Amino acid sequence: MIRLLIALSVIYSTVYSDACPNIVSRKEWKAKKPENTDRLSTPVSNVFIHHTTGPSCSSRSACSERVRNIQYGHMQVDHSWDDIAYSFLIGQDGTVLEGRGWSMRGIHTRGYNSDSIGISFIGTFNSNSPSSAALQAAEDLIACGVANGYIKRNYILKGHRDVARTQCPGGALYNVIKTWPQYRICFKAAFTVRRYRRTVVRPCESPGVTMIRLLVLLSVLYATISAQSCPTIVSRAQWGGKNPTCRSSLRTPVSNVIIHHTEGAFCNSRATCSAQMRNIQDFHMKTRGWCDIGYNFLVGEDGAVYEGRGWNTLGAHAKSYNPISSGISFIGSLTNRPPNSVALNAAKQLIACGVARNFINRNYALKGHRNVMSTSCPGNSLYRVIQGWPHFKP
Ligand SMILES: [Zn+2]
Ligand SMILES: [Zn+2]
Repeated sequence: MIRLLIALSVIYSTVYSDACPNIVSRKEWKAKKPENTDRLSTPVSNVFIHHTTGPSCSSRSACSERVRNIQYGHMQVDHSWDDIAYSFLIGQDGTVLEGRGWSMRGIHTRGYNSDSIGISFIGTFNSNSPSSAALQAAEDLIACGVANGYIKRNYILKGHRDVARTQCPGGALYNVIKTWPQYRICFKAAFTVRRYRRTVVRPCESPGVTMIRLLVLLSVLYATISAQSCPTIVSRAQWGGKNPTCRSSLRTPVSNVIIHHTEGAFCNSRATCSAQMRNIQDFHMKTRGWCDIGYNFLVGEDGAVYEGRGWNTLGAHAKSYNPISSGISFIGSLTNRPPNSVALNAAKQLIACGVARNFINRNYALKGHRNVMSTSCPGNSLYRVIQGWPHFKP
């Protein structure tokens, strides 16, 4: 029983008493009387970190003198405030001095004074951070405030500069506090959702969460941009295609892209290419007896992509390669001249789109029809061009 009591008192003293550093009281550092005694309603939600600027101090007596000077400055010289601005001040030896303390409203962070504790490191910390003793004292002080109900358990820690146009608490000190666990980035920007006319304010969050939020945003942007890189595809309905008489699914992503030419008339407008599409479909269905136009896609010299069997239907264009490829055919005979650049670009965009949407494997092989069967397709001139394209593997 006694053993248990001793254990409990050890735990109690560890959690509570030890958490609070020694605090040099106003009486001890010989503070002037405050001219105002507005009480602070606790627990507060915020802790703000400041530096005083000016010389630092590293003993109880030196820091007491320094804090008397700061109070004099705040009340009589630089400002005519009703007391020293901060709730607490900390010296380089880890001395903690009471400013307005836990229960009085400070005047250190405009807009937040009635819901925050302001802790100021004595000195200037633009290029050098405070000593480890001083930093430890601040952490102990905050833990003490939480343990005694002055600071909310889920408080938000910020630097003065996070909410005001100021260098405070100095670059070096700011970099230190940004690594403390309760440090939060707060988005001041509120925005209105047009349809509901409602203002949404984002909560404060840790830098890690902000990083994740940014990554998600970037990947959404990337996906949007990839999706937008898909060319406009003229649908079967738009070019007046007949329904297929039968259909088999194609397993995607396919690992090959096979390039063809139709070896017929060229076309360079929506109307002439659509007519050509209907001719080719008729030829494939009536003369060849296939279920549908053979290719997965066709490309005209109007720069448009025309839907053949599409991404998900097994094509009839390269025999044994049909189940493992997508067949793209340029409309026209491309033996003596290559397709124009708008047609070539449309085909490249179509392939990129297929990869982005995972219809085509990222490591696909690009081939001419002649690389997988005995044929002159896709014509010498076009074949010469695609040999220079990425992923070409004969
Ligand atoms: Zn400040
Ligand atoms: Zn071919």
